[in-house]
Amino acid sequence: MIKLTKSDKPAVLENNAQNWTEELLAALADQNDERVKTLMRRYNHHEVKTALKAETKEKCAYCEARVTDVAHGDIEHVTPKSIEIERTYDWNNLTFACQICNQNKSNKENIIDPYESNPEDHLFFAGAFAKGKTLAGTRSVLELKLNRTALVESRNREIERYADQIEKIFLVEDKRTRVLLIRGMLDELDTGRPEFVAACRVVLRQYTAGQAA
Ligand SMILES: [Zn+2]
Repeated sequence: MIKLTKSDKPAVLENNAQNWTEELLAALADQNDERVKTLMRRYNHHEVKTALKAETKEKCAYCEARVTDVAHGDIEHVTPKSIEIERTYDWNNLTFACQICNQNKSNKENIIDPYESNPEDHLFFAGAFAKGKTLAGTRSVLELKLNRTALVESRNREIERYADQIEKIFLVEDKRTRVLLIRGMLDELDTGRPEFVAACRVVLRQYTAGQAA
């Protein structure tokens, strides 16, 4: 999980979120369950999904796996809509997640919100394993199952790829070139585009710490 920044609200929500919320709350007050169900799906709009995918670089907001390689991915409510139904169409409450994280999170609260807080303050990585350093961190690891086998395997593959690149950089004789190569890798991670940025940053930090010593 890495820190995410909210992008501009898509026009469909800008124009409709308020009316949609009023209609939804009215249907809820009428106890019209069928209508509530139908209205709730309105957030699932292609414009919203496209904007969220751009925001998370097509990765799951929680596990950082590239969702769109293998699936369509889900629009996810950071605060579950079962808990705050009035935030169903709230742009600031929407993100993009893989189906597994979305299902694991379900209606649970108190999971790290990668927009509100910096996940780095709550999580650390021991190799391919995500671990908590706060209650919210540990809870997120366990509830989202951030160490599920497939995820650890994918994370491990990326860590090894970075470690292999660093191993080659160690063999470059010219110091300035080494610095530039490492900076290139750090810049790539800073874009947030690669998978498992949080875990891979740790590998690079080990290298830079060694260089400073
Ligand atoms: Zn995920």
